[in-house]
Amino acid sequence: MESCTDRTQVCPDCGWPEEEIYQVVSRHPTSTGMVVYTRCACGRLQVRSLSLPGGRGGAQR
Ligand SMILES: [Zn+2]
Repeated sequence: MESCTDRTQVCPDCGWPEEEIYQVVSRHPTSTGMVVYTRCACGRLQVRSLSLPGGRGGAQR
């Protein structure tokens, strides 16, 4: 049993760790952070949402 297994998710198809972004397809800023579309090494598309600390962007007034 490994303690880090819980937090590390891998691609069900090829086993690529999700922490390692193979290719970023597109990014979309949201109110809470950012949504990033990534493509795995096997071509599988994934959507991950990143929450930024603070939660406010510089563009918004
Ligand atoms: Zn994969």
